[in-house]
Amino acid sequence: MTPTDTKDVILTLNAGSSSIKFAIFSAVNDAEYLMQGEIEGIGKRPRFHARDRNGAAIAGPQAIKADASVHDLMQVLLEWINRHLEGRKIVAAGHRVVLGGLEHAEPVLIEAAVLDRLRALIPLVPVHQPRNLEPIDALAKLNPTMPQVACFDTSFHRTMPEVAQLYGLPRKFTDEGARRYGFHGLSYEYIAGVLPKIDDRAAKGRTVVAHLGNGASMCAMIGGRSVATTMGFSPLGGLVMGTRPGELDPGILLWLMQAKGMDDKAIESMLYHDCGLKGVSGISNDMRDLLASDDPHAKQAIALFNYRICWELGALAAAAGGLDALVFTAGIGENASAVREAVCQQSSWLGIELDAPANARGAERISTRTSRVSVWVIPTDEERVIAMHTLKLVQRLPERGVA
Ligand code: ADP
Repeated sequence: MTPTDTKDVILTLNAGSSSIKFAIFSAVNDAEYLMQGEIEGIGKRPRFHARDRNGAAIAGPQAIKADASVHDLMQVLLEWINRHLEGRKIVAAGHRVVLGGLEHAEPVLIEAAVLDRLRALIPLVPVHQPRNLEPIDALAKLNPTMPQVACFDTSFHRTMPEVAQLYGLPRKFTDEGARRYGFHGLSYEYIAGVLPKIDDRAAKGRTVVAHLGNGASMCAMIGGRSVATTMGFSPLGGLVMGTRPGELDPGILLWLMQAKGMDDKAIESMLYHDCGLKGVSGISNDMRDLLASDDPHAKQAIALFNYRICWELGALAAAAGGLDALVFTAGIGENASAVREAVCQQSSWLGIELDAPANARGAERISTRTSRVSVWVIPTDEERVIAMHTLKLVQRLPERGVA
């Protein structure tokens, strides 16, 4: 094992459609978190900001030129980070990559052949995968000797039984990759990792985790391993999300093409940007705006969001053969007590008994002591999972840029 120096740090990157989030962790075994930041508004009005480990602003928001390429953005980012590391050195970068396909059930050190395989998956997730790969290419050019690691949103779900990964399609298309991959795996892995310290029964038993952010999905675990999940082939399926529809009858897509004359690009753009909370409310994709609104369409959008969670909770409990615990996480799951309350009350038939005051004050456990199903609110930390995996893979390397 290659030792790391206490001055070594790991850079994590999470590149989305219009933002690149980064975090810096010390490269020692418990990967202490040092700072984080984000370039937002990519493609329109890019601007950069960063915070230290206590959440205090240490940069920005500062504007970056509008026509900056991802290579330019990564250069700006690396220069800023290096100026603020106080003698520390980035020894590896870990990336969130949306799709690892069937072959990547674990994070992987990025080499040319790996990158080729990940590029070959672009047709399956054309919106997300290229965004995730661009910073990898840029860093390889800016710092060719720095090891890079890809951590996949899909890996955690490779433990699902084969039948849970299949669609009722002709076998030819299944063989070509039309499968249920599942996403948000880094978040689920984090929750599975901390559950043993919080609730032993939940860690060993049948637990559903609801990752409710802008993108949202749910995962049923048995003993901390994924057995079923609501997202499937792409990050469009399952729950109603901020701007994505979730479950759709495929007949709607045929109708949009045949009766409405929409082509694939128009449908893709609508499915990713105009549906979900935003489409149903006609107001906003942000749950905070909807909770604060008296508009009946805002109320209906929230009701649909909650209804679909309850529906999928029943389905996931069926897939897992029962339910011992429910965990809420991500932006909405961690903060929107009204959503948690509605979901728990509508799901009382499963043995959930909400402790309403605990839920309202944002406690970690929000079920009563007598509730058959324990219910928890646990903040997720995908960046930490990326950092820990990156550190582990880098420590296994023979002398390669690691002090
Ligand atoms: P992502 O990482 O997928 O972009 P997040 O996990 O940051 O998303 O979650 C974003 C969502 O969380 C938004 O819908 C936002 O409205 C919601 N959210 C954040 N804070 C609160 C809050 N205090 N109350 C209700 N919703 C919140």
